[in-house]
Amino acid sequence: MQEYKLTIGLEIHAELRTNTKMFCGCKNDPDEKHPNINICPVCMGHPGTLPVINKSAVEQVQRAGLALGSELQKKSHFDRKNYFYPDIPKGYQISQYKDPLVLGGSLKGVKITRVHLEEDTARSQHLGSSDVRSERPASLVDFNRAGVPLMELVTEPDITSAKQAREFAEALQLVLQYLGASEANMEKGEMRCEANISVYLGAERLSGTKVEVKNLNSFRAVEKAIEYEFERQTKLLEEGGKVKQETRGWDENKEATFSQRSKESAHDYRYFPEPDLPLMEFSEEYFDKLRATIPELPEAKRKRLTDEYKLDTQAAEILMHDKDLSAFWEKTASELKEWGSGSDEAFKLASNYFISDLLGLIKEKQIPVSELLIDPENFAELIKMLFNNEITSRVAKDVLRHMVEVGGDPSTIVEEKGLKQVSDSGTLEAMAKKIIDANPSAIADYKKGKQQSLQFLVGQMMKETKGAANPDTIKEILTKIIRGV
Ligand SMILES: [Zn+2]
Repeated sequence: MQEYKLTIGLEIHAELRTNTKMFCGCKNDPDEKHPNINICPVCMGHPGTLPVINKSAVEQVQRAGLALGSELQKKSHFDRKNYFYPDIPKGYQISQYKDPLVLGGSLKGVKITRVHLEEDTARSQHLGSSDVRSERPASLVDFNRAGVPLMELVTEPDITSAKQAREFAEALQLVLQYLGASEANMEKGEMRCEANISVYLGAERLSGTKVEVKNLNSFRAVEKAIEYEFERQTKLLEEGGKVKQETRGWDENKEATFSQRSKESAHDYRYFPEPDLPLMEFSEEYFDKLRATIPELPEAKRKRLTDEYKLDTQAAEILMHDKDLSAFWEKTASELKEWGSGSDEAFKLASNYFISDLLGLIKEKQIPVSELLIDPENFAELIKMLFNNEITSRVAKDVLRHMVEVGGDPSTIVEEKGLKQVSDSGTLEAMAKKIIDANPSAIADYKKGKQQSLQFLVGQMMKETKGAANPDTIKEILTKIIRGV
């Protein structure tokens, strides 16, 4: 039996991090809590006002294009997208239709159609009858968001699963964060996804009817909504029904999509060139200058972390997502190199302690990396001491905790607490003899074949040395003496 398959294209909006809004001098502050503070006649859509293009917003979209391997367009202009809605009172949104800033490119194997620039709308809020802010149902509108620069990226219908869609959105978020173009926090609405979803049978992957799902405000919602639509559309077709071309919303609580309206097509918006804004023209020299501002990007960083430091994929993944943590790690690694302990084994040891122990403590104590008492130099020194067998792993873990809780450098802590690894066999043998003499019944049990008794004796020795002796060495010495007796 043939199986239904998915075809997905994404449209992703991201609010750009600029000082001011897209076409006026109002502050672009996504954290402003008080409504209608950062507003002026331009972003309120008053008649007779004139927009001015924000150069920095244009640059951010072009930089995103460079990061995605796209073609930056030498000529580009803005268009009016006409529609009425209370959150867009001038009756149109300034967007780009015919000549966007950026064409083509790809990310995670998904082809990108275009990236363009537009203005965000105001935010409307609908109060129910039970809301304390109003005696009866009401709608509020906040213009702080109106006119905030908004990047829109459209992909080709290349995506074939819900998981792949989610991974694309996550990868894009990271690229935008690396570029400093957007925080792209989905929970705060700084990044918003829409998915065009259809299902098909056979070989013609564009043969299904496209349904657009809007308001996907988390990565989870992207994945869940696509899974839901796949089920819904497949069931409809299997029962002999037809998928209707429409726009659907996502209900987070019900985990279901719902019909909003039949889909309008581009001609419904009556796009036409924005007469109040000039044609934008760019030179190769300008593009070269922008290219020089592109930092190391997530994929390149992941590759470097695994190639250079031999980090496993999980560790590289964690570091790729956290700027502060990865800076801590890079400093640690360069310290290790300076000391000449830059071998693969030393990096492996360092990454194990970094990922499981230090990260574990950071999580336990809930300290931001920037406020840690332990610094990369001290952490690297601890690893070096461990690597050179100056301390045991048991001691290393205790010292690490001490460094996180009260700070200090590891050699002083080890010195003060007398935790240096005891490897002198004379000292260990004397200690072993003392413990054997004090525990005759354990020795008798061990000789009868009770292995736990030996473990008990090892434990006694560990206690005596405060964990500063290697358990394997202790075991060896103990068995040697017991057998010799
Ligand atoms: Zn304004």
